[in-house]
Amino acid sequence: LLAPDGTVAATVFAEMSALAARTGAINLGQGFPDVDGPSWVRRAAVDAIAPDAESGANQYPPGPGVPTLLDAVAAHQDRHYGIRLDPATQVLVTTGATEALAATVLALAGPGDDVVTLEPFYDAYAACIALAGARHLTVPLVRDPARPGAPLRLDLDALRAAVTDRTRIVLVNTPHNPTGTVLTRPELEAVADAARRHDAIVLTDEVYEHLVFDDAVHVPVATLPGMAERTLTVSSVGKSWSLTGWKVGWVTGPAELLTAVRTVKQFLTYVSGAPFQPAVARALGDDTFPRELAASLAARRDLLCEGLDAAGFAVSRPRGTYFVVADGSPLGFDDGADLCRRLPALAGVVGVPMSAFCTPGSPTAVALRSSVRFTFVKKEPVLREAVRRLAALR
Ligand code: PMP
Ligand code: GLN
Repeated sequence: LLAPDGTVAATVFAEMSALAARTGAINLGQGFPDVDGPSWVRRAAVDAIAPDAESGANQYPPGPGVPTLLDAVAAHQDRHYGIRLDPATQVLVTTGATEALAATVLALAGPGDDVVTLEPFYDAYAACIALAGARHLTVPLVRDPARPGAPLRLDLDALRAAVTDRTRIVLVNTPHNPTGTVLTRPELEAVADAARRHDAIVLTDEVYEHLVFDDAVHVPVATLPGMAERTLTVSSVGKSWSLTGWKVGWVTGPAELLTAVRTVKQFLTYVSGAPFQPAVARALGDDTFPRELAASLAARRDLLCEGLDAAGFAVSRPRGTYFVVADGSPLGFDDGADLCRRLPALAGVVGVPMSAFCTPGSPTAVALRSSVRFTFVKKEPVLREAVRRLAALR
C-alpha cells in the first residue's frame, strides 16, 4: 500500500483529479457527477440538523444504522428484487460502500484464505484483501474477438480454475467498474455454482445497480437459487442518487454473517454519521431519480462512445455504470498510463489508465495495457467539448 519511496501512495483517482486541476483539463477520470442529486433529498439532510430540528441527528446514532434507513434498505431490496430482509438483523448501514467492503473482507477472510475478484477490479478490493492478509486471485473479464466493441465478458474457465476449497470469498461487481459490463444471468449462475461447490461466500458490489442501459438487466446475486444464505450484498446512495460525497452505504445478507461484519465495523468507525441517514432513507423510496439518471446516462454514453470512436480509439460500449473503456493502440499509444499523463497536454482531457485496475504484470494488465477509462457522468456540453478536443489526437 506504500509508494516506492515509503510514503502513502495516492489513489489513482486522487492523482488524476489533481492532474486535471493542475492543467485545467476536462476531468473524465474520477467518477463523480457534476450535477448534484435531488434537491428534496438534500433539503431532508438540511432539516435533520437545522437548529430548530427535534431529531437527534447530532449525536451517535444506533450502531447498525438509524431504524428508518434500515427499513428503507429492506423495502428497496424487496420492491426491486423480491429479496426479503429483516431490517433488525440483516441490514447494516456503513460509511459508503467502501466501509461495507472493507468490514466484510476483514471480518470473513484472513491469512490462508483466498479472495477471488474479477480483473480489472475496483482498486479498493486489492487493498482490503491485503489488509486482511488473504491471498488475492483474479478471474479476467476478456474481450470477445468475434464481437469487437462489445462489453468484456467473464472468462468462465478461469472462474472454475480460481475458485477452490481455499476460497473464502468470491467478490463480484455488477454493473462493473471500470468496464461497464453488466454480468449476465448465466455468468452469475457460474459464479454461484462455483461458490456453492466450494462453500464460499459471495460478496457482491452492486453500487451501480440502477445505472443500466438498453436491454441490460441487473441481476442481484442474492436472487439466484440457494444464494441468499451465502451472499452479502453491498450498495450505497452515491451513484444512483448522485450524492457521492455523502458516503452512506449498506451491506445486507444472512444474520450470522452480518453479525461478523457488524463486529468489525464497530472498530472501524463505531457508527456512521447520523445526519444523512434519514435523508438517504427518503431517497431510497424514490425510483424516479435513478431511472431518469440512467436514461440520461445512456444518451451521454452514446455521445462519448461516438466521440472516442471518431477520435480513433477502439471503444468497448458499456451497458451500465458511468464508465467507458477505450483502447489507444489504433492511435499508436501502447501504454495507457503514459497516454493518461500526456493527455492533458495533447487534448486537454484526463482519463484513468486501465492498469490502475489490474494486478501489475497480470495477463489482464497486459491485455488492457493500452486502454483508458473515461467517465461520462458529466454535463452534455462538457462531454461535447471533451469529444471536440479528443478529435485532435487523430
Ligand atoms: N465500489 C465501486 C465499484 C465503486 O465504483 C465505488 C465508487 N466510489 C465504490 C465501491 C465506493 O462507493 P462509496 O463511495 O459508497 O464508498
Ligand atoms: N468510484 C469512483 C471511480 O471509480 C471514485 C472512486 C474514488 O475516488 N475512490 O472513479
